[in-house]
Amino acid sequence: MRTFFVILLAACWTNTVCWAGETTALGENDEPASVKLDDNAQEPAPREWLCRWNSPGKPAAPAAEFNRHYPTNRLPLRPTKFVALPLGSVKPQGWLKDQLTIQANGLTGHLDEFWPPLVKTAWKGGDGEKWERGPYYLDGLVPLAYLLDDSRLIAKTRPWIEGILASGQPDGWFGPAQNKDRWPLAVAMKVLTQYHEATGDPRALKLIADYFAYLHKAPPDWPNKDWRGVRAMENAVTAYWLYRRTGDPNVLKVAESIHKNSRNWTDYFTNFPWTTEALRTGSIPYDWKDVGMTAHVVNVAMATKYPGLWWQQSGDGRHKEAVYRGWASLDEHHGQVGGRFSGDEHLSGRRPTQGTELCAVVESMFSLEKLLEIFGDTAFADRLEFLAYNANPGACTPDYWAHQYDQQANQVLCTVAKRQWSTNSDTSNLYGLEPHYGCCTANMHQGWPKFVAHLWMATHDQGLAAVAYGPSVVRAKVAGGTEVSVEEITDYPFDETIRFKLMSPEPVEFPLHLRVPSWAEGATVNCQGKTEPAAPGQFLVIRRRWSPGDEVVIKLPMKMRTETRYHDAVAIVRGPLVYSLRMGEHFDQLKRHHPTLPVIDWSVHPTTPWNYGLLLDRHNPERSITVAHTGKPGQQPFAQETAPVVLRVKGRTIPEWKLEANSAGQTPASPVESQDPLVDLDLIPYGCTRLRITEFPVLADESR
Ligand SMILES: [Zn+2]
Repeated sequence: MRTFFVILLAACWTNTVCWAGETTALGENDEPASVKLDDNAQEPAPREWLCRWNSPGKPAAPAAEFNRHYPTNRLPLRPTKFVALPLGSVKPQGWLKDQLTIQANGLTGHLDEFWPPLVKTAWKGGDGEKWERGPYYLDGLVPLAYLLDDSRLIAKTRPWIEGILASGQPDGWFGPAQNKDRWPLAVAMKVLTQYHEATGDPRALKLIADYFAYLHKAPPDWPNKDWRGVRAMENAVTAYWLYRRTGDPNVLKVAESIHKNSRNWTDYFTNFPWTTEALRTGSIPYDWKDVGMTAHVVNVAMATKYPGLWWQQSGDGRHKEAVYRGWASLDEHHGQVGGRFSGDEHLSGRRPTQGTELCAVVESMFSLEKLLEIFGDTAFADRLEFLAYNANPGACTPDYWAHQYDQQANQVLCTVAKRQWSTNSDTSNLYGLEPHYGCCTANMHQGWPKFVAHLWMATHDQGLAAVAYGPSVVRAKVAGGTEVSVEEITDYPFDETIRFKLMSPEPVEFPLHLRVPSWAEGATVNCQGKTEPAAPGQFLVIRRRWSPGDEVVIKLPMKMRTETRYHDAVAIVRGPLVYSLRMGEHFDQLKRHHPTLPVIDWSVHPTTPWNYGLLLDRHNPERSITVAHTGKPGQQPFAQETAPVVLRVKGRTIPEWKLEANSAGQTPASPVESQDPLVDLDLIPYGCTRLRITEFPVLADESR
């Protein structure tokens, strides 16, 4: 085995390019003796539901060595596949930097100046809100401030951080004196981990360690009926972060105690209860009691990572399997186009007019970022990009001043009106300051910055991995400690070419891992003039001695794809972008919240028809759809008028497809007949639209 490993590596040196799977699989006898590895016995058998995801396959053998430059899991924890880089290692470039700047100039950079829950917050010593809203806001503001090196935003974070640091009690408890609930402290700790990474402030590490000492001494208090109980494993994110830095065994005892004394999400995802049948019979509890909490979309979005977090400590394949089963069940019973699942605000099925709360979108993204770090499966990254580049911008106005509570795939009217939400109120799909409820107003800010921070990760072979794509630059230590930068020059996801340019003080030898998305059939990589094919759904590893200025170019062909959705409707997907009908959108101002800042609640009415069926061969969509326009993304690519990519397709209106309960009615069964004229239609990225049809019926014309 060892001999083969060396030979293969030698082959890799010769050929420039080799596969991570070839090398890591061969190291399976090299594991540290004390690491429990029982995944082989308990790995789920390949089944149909795994086909949409990559099979977990054999566990990645623990690397013979561990990353020497960044905090990594220590025994007895299982090694993660990748190692997160400290906040600030990855910086946005190009259109992505513009996106974060828009956020800084929009709601994130000003919310604390006028929104009552933040203006008088008890987290800064005031007599106002004492619970989750302050920490939620900081969970996005802190990474945004440091990714942009924005002194104005950094100055905004200071009184918050100083207030939190000054609040530590002798027993380790912290936060506003008026708060006795552990839930907002779990969010505040995630804030402090990011702040510590960006600044190295030892006081943040001490406060976190003191709080875990408190939890170690205090009795478990994680009731299933309360947020702190159903979301208790959110503390495990920080627990393992802390253990990587201190090695304090009591931290693992706290994580174990939380796991054993809080909601059992492994059993939940292994035997997912809230199926289509449960929806049909009305047995999903739409309430706020302990069982109803497991049908709440944000709880579920957070919990999708909990069995995976715990797997680091248990090493038990059941926990890893629960992660995969969970996502597969959510897809099957509540899946929406673009990788999200419905919840408005309880799980509500696959109809394209059901909503997804914005908190669930950004929390799903964070869960996927952690799962990607732990398991290294490209499928988590594929889904992360889908959410980041579709649902994330689609729920916000392009100026980042207004957002929706619930977004819909088929969203043809945003008004105050009764809709078929599970439990939400009539304002939930308005674009505004706090439609329905203010949690998303506080929590939405983490989406973009955390995504940017997780585009790159370190590897155990002392290299770097580009795990998700977007214009960026990473600065990190590789090999024996040489600090290098890799600039990622691209208009992705609006373009299929990504160029990596190495900058280092001297030639240096290290592996560069590049993800090839599962949709990228025909992908190629070019390294110093030599082109190789790159198989989808894997990480490609380039091992070579790099010289300053060396370049690698990966091409990810964005072939047109269709997805069959609810009621046999079709959705158009190309690369990581979902495409929706470009409609006329008329915005009406409902309420202005601020005399000078553009803080406005909007309703949106259509000015053009939406009830189209497409003339489409769903099995060969490229026969029916043409790429009408591609251009460089401008400062804001997620606006209707500046959509960088436009697809052209033909369709007919379907007169009987009308509004039902103030949303698009049930999508007519395909193939559908229509005598209306055949017209040209533009499809643009979902994230460019505020009104849209995304799941279409197919006309009978093409079927005959
Ligand atoms: Zn929310």
